[in-house]
Amino acid sequence: MLELIQKRTQLIKAKAAELGFDFCGVSKAEFLEEEAPRLETWLNRQMNGRMGYMANHFDKRLDPRLLVEGAKSVVTVLLNYYPEKTVAEIDGYKISKYAYGTDYHFVIKDKLKDLLAYVHDEIGDVNGRIFVDSAPVMDKVWAKKSGLGWVGKHTNLITREMGSFVFIGEMILDLELVADGPMADYCGTCTRCIDACPTDAITDPYVVDGSKCISYFTIELKDAIPDEVKGKFENWIFGCDICQDVCPWNRFSRPHQTPAFDPNPALADFKKADWEEITQDIFQEIFRRSAVKRTKLEGLKRNIAFVKLND
Ligand code: SF4
Ligand code: SF4
Repeated sequence: MLELIQKRTQLIKAKAAELGFDFCGVSKAEFLEEEAPRLETWLNRQMNGRMGYMANHFDKRLDPRLLVEGAKSVVTVLLNYYPEKTVAEIDGYKISKYAYGTDYHFVIKDKLKDLLAYVHDEIGDVNGRIFVDSAPVMDKVWAKKSGLGWVGKHTNLITREMGSFVFIGEMILDLELVADGPMADYCGTCTRCIDACPTDAITDPYVVDGSKCISYFTIELKDAIPDEVKGKFENWIFGCDICQDVCPWNRFSRPHQTPAFDPNPALADFKKADWEEITQDIFQEIFRRSAVKRTKLEGLKRNIAFVKLND
């Protein structure tokens, strides 16, 4: 039996690599006992800001067996998205690297669908579901439990091999697989991300107050951006990568191999004036499949105006 479990685990990992995932790890599907009090405290301190959805599905978030009946394993995959070149560093506004190309939800979902189809073809009648950044799954916790990385003081997942610019996806299966061990924490005494955060959103090591983060203000917040963060956005108009950019582990980042994550070529030379004059047509064309579409043009313009006026 153990041999069969090992063989199936190897098959899934080999297929994940063939599909282009950079990492694949396995955990036993069980109640996340250590996470329960952490999540509760974070929500009680209202660090989710107006992201009310973070408080939903509390029980499901902590127990994958409530998401897939009879779940036995959580398979976590990572996909590198570190770009070859950053967009318009000079005289430009900045957007988070994760939003350069095609929305990762589409890219990872397609690959995970193929992985699940492979499980059905090769292993048989397995009950499974795939997840990409969906509220009920604590993706970073599963990645850590599966030995793929650790959650840094900035609360992003960090891999030892290629830093933190990785997307995470999961497949929950009612299939027994060989679990990988959890990964240790390699932040040590470093505090670079905490020191560099312009809005002091990393309130304690491993605690980000989502309601103070530039990503929240520029993407999630629908109302006006509050005055107390005026002058602090350092040219970020969609998301913020500062805490990741300063992290020493990102010296191991290397360019991704997923063409869908390449930015629209027009973005390469986008100067501040181009952003400020952006029309609906250009926005549509450049961000047709990008996560930037989430803010809509009005949201992006609000962010640009806020940064232009105050930075
Ligand atoms: S993303 Fe930016 S604002 Fe948010 S915690 Fe990191 S450095 Fe701070
Ligand atoms: S900058 Fe330092 S403390 Fe922050 S996540 Fe990276 S290694 Fe950890």
